[in-house]
Amino acid sequence: MKTIGVIGGMSWESTVTYYQGLNQGIKERLGGHNSAKVLINSVNFAEIEQMQRDGAWDSAAVVLCKAAQSLEKAGADFILIATNTMHKLAGQIEESISIPLLHIADATGHELTRRGISKVGLLGTAFTMEEDFYKQRITNKFGIEVIVPNGVQRKLVHDVIYDELCQGKLNRRSKHDYQTIIEELAMNGAQGVILGCTEIGLLVNQTDTEIALFDTVEIHVQEAIKEALNES
Ligand code: GLU
Repeated sequence: MKTIGVIGGMSWESTVTYYQGLNQGIKERLGGHNSAKVLINSVNFAEIEQMQRDGAWDSAAVVLCKAAQSLEKAGADFILIATNTMHKLAGQIEESISIPLLHIADATGHELTRRGISKVGLLGTAFTMEEDFYKQRITNKFGIEVIVPNGVQRKLVHDVIYDELCQGKLNRRSKHDYQTIIEELAMNGAQGVILGCTEIGLLVNQTDTEIALFDTVEIHVQEAIKEALNES
């Protein structure tokens, strides 16, 4: 079994989900006392979040590249970045190491393709919903159209992530708002919605809506398990 390196802590609330998911997945596949071989380098999210707000992406890249290199040195066979947003720096991180990076948008694109989706809604931070590094990758590599909520809704989705979910707060009102936004994306033609932020699955899941949800943590974790067991 390969050793999985996780750059986590963004936020740690969702890194917990990764750790559980990786272990549960290995246990389901191999049974008994089998568990995942995982190395986690968990950063201080306060530092990263400040850099995001300041637009100090180069400084954030220094921190994340160092984390990736330490995972490689410690024996990781491949790397996961346990946040969608920080895949903005995936190229730089990839260049700083000699082991593979399992990209969250690629894992998601494969799953969307497998499920026959050609137009999808995307929820995530403003960086993920508004910039090209994520949407464009899914469109260019997989030929899938990606739509996002309107400006007011994007701000709400973004603020809930940082002010609530990344701080472990689950609010019923916010859940309702997310459900409404998901339904509107579907009314605008989305055949499903990507939960493109690793904390959103803590607030809404498939039992909350009829619309197909694509939780990027679940998808990323499943892809990592396949890679760890040489099934991909
Ligand atoms: N975990 C979130 C994501 O998947 C947001 C936190 C961050 O900015 O990294 O995008």
